[in-house]
Amino acid sequence: MSKIGFIGLGIMGAPMAAHLVRAGHDVTGYDVAPKGVDALVAAGGEAASGVPAAVAGAEVVVTMLPQDEHVEAVYFGPDGVLENAAPGTLCIDFSTIRPETSIRVAEAGRERGLRVLDAPVSGGEKGAQDAVLSIMVGGDEADVAAAAPVFEAVGRTVARVGGSGAGQYVKAANQLIVGGTYALVAEAIVLMEAAGVDARAGIDVIAGGLAASRILDLKRESMLDREFAPGFRIDLHHKDMGIATAAARSAGVSLPMTGMVAQLIAAARARGYGSLDHSALLKVVEDLSGR
Ligand code: NAD
Repeated sequence: MSKIGFIGLGIMGAPMAAHLVRAGHDVTGYDVAPKGVDALVAAGGEAASGVPAAVAGAEVVVTMLPQDEHVEAVYFGPDGVLENAAPGTLCIDFSTIRPETSIRVAEAGRERGLRVLDAPVSGGEKGAQDAVLSIMVGGDEADVAAAAPVFEAVGRTVARVGGSGAGQYVKAANQLIVGGTYALVAEAIVLMEAAGVDARAGIDVIAGGLAASRILDLKRESMLDREFAPGFRIDLHHKDMGIATAAARSAGVSLPMTGMVAQLIAAARARGYGSLDHSALLKVVEDLSGR
């Protein structure tokens, strides 16, 4: 059992923190919004009034924040983790951010005697609720081993993929596959409906063949029903496509499909769908098709 400070109790963080409580850890959480803190208290954790209180006495600090600027504020800010965590603290950042930011956080942490891992996750809200996330980890091997009890409580598939920042490159690769899959599932639904075939039966039979995917398994019903409550917001996927595009540029590779998906997601935001689930790419394909 560890004493854990958990910062960022949103769609993903709240169920992850609750699983850590269930696994026997002593979890103190902080979020700028009260909803997630209330959920943690209801699950048996404790509320903190800010980052310093969340990390006070913690052996492990966990962060699950939306974007780079939030991670920078929480780590580098005047009341931040770097100022307040005790030397030796293991910091696990589950947020999806740019690899360069993860590297900067890890280097600054190292200078203060902290051990920082980037550990972005895949599996969505359902994966967090069911504690079956895939966790892609960058950082020192010994620190990854030390984080095992936390990873086991929230995830099922864990891999160390390299040093600091490496987890974020793998997450960028994951997100371009997820975005591309949603775009093509949306196109398949629009085609079947426009052709007047039974799209519901069609998508079911597709899900049993080579085109099977977890996205089809989990989201085909809600897409057919046009239910787009997040889940994973278009705004966050837009951020992730920016990370993937920048990573491709710095790696010197051409990813044409990623570029197209990034533009579709940008179109979704431009049409005002930013706070809907990323499955709302279906609405963009419908708009393009005049439907
Ligand atoms: P979210 O917006 O629901 O949760 C983030 C939480 O961080 C919010 O509750 C917000 O109030 C809090 N926060 C922001 N700034 C803060 C600060 N300075 N101090 C304390 N709390 C602060 O987002 P989410 O969907 O849980 O996603 C979190 C991260 O996980 C993102 O990087 C996202 O890309 C990634 N992710 C999300 C999913 C998903 O399906 N939702 C799946 C995999 C990865």
